[in-house]
Amino acid sequence: MKPTLEYARACDEADELRSFRDEFAVPTNAAGQQQLYLCGHSLGLMPRAARRLVDQELDDWARFAVLGHESATRPWIPYHQNLAKGLAYLTGAQPDEVVAMNSLTVNLHLMLASFYRPQGRRVKILMEAGAFSSDRHAVASQLAWHRQNLDTALVELTPEPGAESIAEAQVEAYLERHGAEVALVLWPGVQFRTGQAFDLQRIIRAARRAGCIAGVDLAHSIGNMPLALHEHDADFAVWCSYKYLNAGPGAIGGCFVHERNIGAAPASRLHGWWGHEAATRFRMEPRFEAESGAAAWQISNPPILAAAPLIASLELFQAARAERLRAKSIALTGFLEQLLQPLQSSVQLITPRAVESRGCQLSIRILGGGSRGKRVLDRLTELDVICDWREPDVIRVAPVPLYNRFEEVFRFAAHLTQVLQEIS
Ligand SMILES: *Cc1c(COP(=O)(O)O)cnc(C)c1O
Repeated sequence: MKPTLEYARACDEADELRSFRDEFAVPTNAAGQQQLYLCGHSLGLMPRAARRLVDQELDDWARFAVLGHESATRPWIPYHQNLAKGLAYLTGAQPDEVVAMNSLTVNLHLMLASFYRPQGRRVKILMEAGAFSSDRHAVASQLAWHRQNLDTALVELTPEPGAESIAEAQVEAYLERHGAEVALVLWPGVQFRTGQAFDLQRIIRAARRAGCIAGVDLAHSIGNMPLALHEHDADFAVWCSYKYLNAGPGAIGGCFVHERNIGAAPASRLHGWWGHEAATRFRMEPRFEAESGAAAWQISNPPILAAAPLIASLELFQAARAERLRAKSIALTGFLEQLLQPLQSSVQLITPRAVESRGCQLSIRILGGGSRGKRVLDRLTELDVICDWREPDVIRVAPVPLYNRFEEVFRFAAHLTQVLQEIS
C-alpha cells in the first residue's frame, strides 16, 4: 500500500478503536483547532471522564467532609482498591501484587529500601548507562545511604560501539560473568530516549538466574507494551501514571511486588500506618501488622484528587483491551516509520526497527547537529505539532493507539518533510 493521505484515512475508518479518541480532550491552538499531539510518552491526554471523577471527589468532600473516608461514593480509606484491578490487568500481575501510591521515584526508593540488601561480595547494582536521571539519582543515593562506593558498586552497561541500544545478550553475558557480585538489577521496560523496548522476560530471567533481585521501571512501558510481571517473575516494578496512563500531571504512581516477596516480606520494608492491616489500622497500636499484598508498602493515605483520574483512564484501557491496542500501536508506528523512509538523508531513527523491540515511540535523530534539530522542533511547534526533544539531537514522537490517528501520523510526516526542506 502507498502511504498516502487516502490510505491513512482508510486505516482510520477501519480502526475498531477509533471512537476512543472522543473520550479524550485534545489540546487546541489559539484559533480553536486541534493540535497534532504526539507527546503521550511525556504527558498523556486528559480522559474526559477524569473531570467527572475529580468533581465527584470534590462534591463528596464538600458534602461529607471527614465522613467521606467511609461514606464517599468511593470511600477514601480503601481507595487504592479502585485501581488494583486495572493496574494488574496492564502489568500482568495479580491484583494484590500491585498498589497505586506515591510517585515513581519515591516508589523506586521504597523498593530499593526493601530489596537492595548488599551483603558480602554481592553489593553491586546493575543498570543501563543513560538511564533516566531520576533513576540514576535514586540508585546513586541509595548506594551512598548504604555507604557503598559509587565507582565500584554502580555498574552501567553501555551499547556496543556503534550501536544505539543495549542488547539483552549483553545483560545476560555480564550477569553470567559477574552476577555473583550483583545484588540488584534495575532495568527499564522501554528506554525513554531511544524508545527501545527490552525483552523483560530475558532480563529478569538472567538476573534471577544469577541470584540477583530483578527490578523494572515501567515508566515508558505501562499502557504502551504488553507486560507479564507475575509470569516473568520480576521482584518488583515501579511506574508513573501521567505518561501512557493518562492520569494527569503529578498523578499517583504505582508499584508491583511479586507474590513470593510478599509472603517473605523483607525486614527492611519501610512502614507507615497505611500499610498496616486495614481492619485494625485505626486502633493505632504501636505494633505493625502488615496489610496483605503490595498494599503493605503503602505509607501514607493516598492523594484522592491525584488518583481519581486514573480510574477513568484504566476503564478506557480495559474497554479497549491491551491486545487490540498493541495491534493498532504496531500498525500506527509502522506507518510512521514507513513515512520517514524517504527522509533518510536528513533524519536517522534511533529506535530499533524490530516491532518487538519498540512500543509506540519513535526517536528521530535530526542530522546536522543539535542546533538544527532544535530549530526543526521549534518550527514544528509553530505548526501546532506537539512532540519533544531529548539532548543532544533527538525528537521523540509517540502515536498513541488510544487516541492518535493514522491521519495525524501522515500529517506529522508531511510537516516534518516540509520543515526539513526549509531548515537546511
Ligand atoms: C518519567 C520518568 C520518571 C519520573 O519520575 P517521577 O518520580 O514521576 O517524577 C522517572 N524515571 C523514568 C524512567 C521516567 O521515564
